[in-house]
Amino acid sequence: MGIMIIDGKQIAQTIKEDIREQVADLTAQYGRKPCLDVILVGENPASMSYVRSKIKATEYCGFDGELISLPETTSQDELLRIICERNNNNAVDGILVQLPLPAHINEQAVINAISPEKDVDGFHPLNVARLWLGDETIVPCTPMGIMALLEETKTPLQGRHAVVVGRSNIVGKPVAKLLLDKNCTVTIAHSRTADLAAVCRTADILVVAVGRPHMITADMVKPGATVIDVGINRTVDGHLVGDVDFESVAPIAGAITPVPGGVGPMTIAMLMRNTITCYQRRMNK
Ligand code: NDP
Repeated sequence: MGIMIIDGKQIAQTIKEDIREQVADLTAQYGRKPCLDVILVGENPASMSYVRSKIKATEYCGFDGELISLPETTSQDELLRIICERNNNNAVDGILVQLPLPAHINEQAVINAISPEKDVDGFHPLNVARLWLGDETIVPCTPMGIMALLEETKTPLQGRHAVVVGRSNIVGKPVAKLLLDKNCTVTIAHSRTADLAAVCRTADILVVAVGRPHMITADMVKPGATVIDVGINRTVDGHLVGDVDFESVAPIAGAITPVPGGVGPMTIAMLMRNTITCYQRRMNK
């Protein structure tokens, strides 16, 4: 069986090139560039690296925007005030608050404060509700990136069994909904799932978003399955590894995403796409 390594980096690059061209046209049409503001609180190294990648992508795509770096000690009220100011600024199309936030800040209160029409992460309760109702919304970036990879690789979805390991609000739950929308039969597995290996082995499409290095081993994968590894885990020597044991799983999978270079770059490309969506919806209102 030929293994297909899904090159998320390349697919994301092509998407960003398309967006870059689109931005040039939109800027000419509407008289200003799309604008994404990114707010980072504190100095979590992983968050700083994600934010750097996001800013780099906005620059590449030709967006306007600002990086607002705030000290770890920033109060919740101060953060809410900054968000409110961006909500009211007509030149801002997207507001992204990098998570996680310091423990003294209530994350949900911050998410709730972002205007749903500038919510490029798609985490606002109104956008979450719209996703589950099947209404027009902003879809969270990582789940949308996963679906784009499945589409790009022409993975058949209708009637197939998709197993999603992990049930977070940012990955597991929304990707399960998107797979359901594509007529997969969906199982969501989590830390209390009995016999996870047996459940995973029934998957035609296995999406893993847990945050435990190499937890999915070859004995948990059906031969020929498409395996999407969302995990980003830092080893002690600073390398990134996924939740899937790539070495042992790749030879039996039909297709598999590497870490790094799989889902990660797609998340950023989809953030660019969501920013354009927010911009266009605001401009057309
Ligand atoms: P969370 O920690 O929010 O959720 C982890 C999920 O995994 C939970 O639902 C948990 O179950 C489940 N889980 C934990 N242990 C086990 C186990 N032993 N067996 C089965 N399920 C288990 O993580 P996120 O969804 O935020 O992120 C998951 C991973 O994806 C992380 O490595 C993160 O860094 C990465 N990530 C990557 C992104 C990208 O762009 N590539 C974007 C976002 C995240 P329970 O609910 O029962 O506790």
